[in-house]
Amino acid sequence: MPHSVTDTTTPASHPTASDTSGRTDALHSVPTGLYIDGVWRESSDASTIAVENPATGRTLLDIASATPTDGAAALDAAVAAADDWARTSPRHRGEILRRAFDLLTERAEHFATLITLEMGKPLAQARGEVAYGAEFFRWYSEESVRIDGRWSTSPDGKSRLMTMRQPVGPTLMITPWNFPLAMGTRKIGPAIAAGCTMVIKPASQTPLTMLALADLMTEVGVPAGVLNVIPTRTSGAVMTPLITDPRLRKLTFTGSTPVGKDLIRQSAEQVLRVSMELGGNAPFLVFEDADIEAAVDGAMLAKMRNMGEACTAANRFLVHQSVADDFAALLAQKMTAERLGAGIDDGVTVGPLIDDKQRRKVAELVTDAVDRGADLTVGGERIDGPGYFYTPTVLTNVQPGSAVLREEIFGPVAPIATFTDDDDAIARANDTEYGLAAYAFTASTARTIKVAESLDFGMIGINQGIISNAAAPFGGMKHSGFGREGGPEGIAEYVETKYIGINPLDATVRNSHTDAR
Ligand code: NAD
Repeated sequence: MPHSVTDTTTPASHPTASDTSGRTDALHSVPTGLYIDGVWRESSDASTIAVENPATGRTLLDIASATPTDGAAALDAAVAAADDWARTSPRHRGEILRRAFDLLTERAEHFATLITLEMGKPLAQARGEVAYGAEFFRWYSEESVRIDGRWSTSPDGKSRLMTMRQPVGPTLMITPWNFPLAMGTRKIGPAIAAGCTMVIKPASQTPLTMLALADLMTEVGVPAGVLNVIPTRTSGAVMTPLITDPRLRKLTFTGSTPVGKDLIRQSAEQVLRVSMELGGNAPFLVFEDADIEAAVDGAMLAKMRNMGEACTAANRFLVHQSVADDFAALLAQKMTAERLGAGIDDGVTVGPLIDDKQRRKVAELVTDAVDRGADLTVGGERIDGPGYFYTPTVLTNVQPGSAVLREEIFGPVAPIATFTDDDDAIARANDTEYGLAAYAFTASTARTIKVAESLDFGMIGINQGIISNAAAPFGGMKHSGFGREGGPEGIAEYVETKYIGINPLDATVRNSHTDAR
């Protein structure tokens, strides 16, 4: 498909969205087709998706949009490649992943530019996403050779018990727009290490990074059919037939809880292995003994990374009454110092939100909180003009019952409420259907242990505002999903454990293990 780069300039009228860096050149090398069975092809009905730059509202590229026929072709390819791929050596797969890590690192600037253009985050953060995303390739290049089994004697001595771990098989991966690279590599890394083939559907808002990654994966030696990429603007129509196809063995989804619940229901049809990385509503607890400067630095990271568009974003600040004024004042000062603009421009620290719908939702949550009695300390403004900008916002004195405390904000808004009793704070932190990430700042070891043991969240950051790490199990509880990505746990999602009981049929061997010698 020909490239159609249409966003070579950004409007000069917008004070901060002036892309003078010529970085849109990065778009010229991005494939715009569907990647199926090692070949780039057009959509079967020639339909396309216009991928937009959220900083300008303009189209970056038109790319192919998969139809159900294309989806079926992608699964056919993944199924056809599955057996040969499962038989490749762990070392071979590990070395492919290591080359992918090296090449992604070498081309970090290119990938960071694509991420910023299609998703909006500041370039420095996009570089961080590339480093984080690449790390899953390095980590799983090292894990591929450590997929083991075990051997034991049955308690009665009559049998030998062997376990082996084999690839689950063809896997469907559905990813969101907020981390266009890392949400993919977190799945692709362990799947390749385990020997699974895959069909990947990136979010229709941000497919460019994944299309560029497909090219890179071919370059490092991933064979045809092992990795197929099919962006589509008709997700349900293309995904449902794949999810209900008896040849698919696993679904791994990262996205919102309502869509995740629907996909869990659909997965019941073929009793699929399912991993779900869903929404969050992270509490951020600041105890009276906390180092307030460190807590505010942590809050800025936990709140403002990705403009607050992260499932791990701090959603509710619960601050001890005695330190709340200091915390709020320092946080407001730092929020005011942020520089809003097109992420591609130097010095910008807060980019646009992904689209106008998301911005409207953020604005509504702020209005609701203020209507219920919260004080708008800083921010609370939509910026007119092209792009979907919303100013960094601090709300204090937020009243119980405000929607902003209950719903995932996905924007640069920090609502602060206070507490006077630790147990009450922990109970309020747990009072949500979500259970992904939580943060706590305290100098006390006893409080650290109490908080870690009583918070119902899959990940807890103590005195730190960033929790994600390729070497650690990322994932949630309750309505935030199940399954883990990263660490040794991540590969377990892509293997089946098979047990073989062996009867030696020979009396001398049979009990030899338990014989006294
Ligand atoms: P979303 O649920 O709208 O979309 C996620 C993906 O699902 C996209 O690729 C989308 O096209 C696809 N999709 C939508 N409807 C579908 C359907 N009916 N059938 C099949 N696929 C469908 O979420 P989003 O807006 O892209 O991402 C934001 C959400 O993702 C937030 O709730 C955030 O918390 C969550 N998220 C979670 C994690 C995590 O690890 N827990 C990480 C990042 C984002």
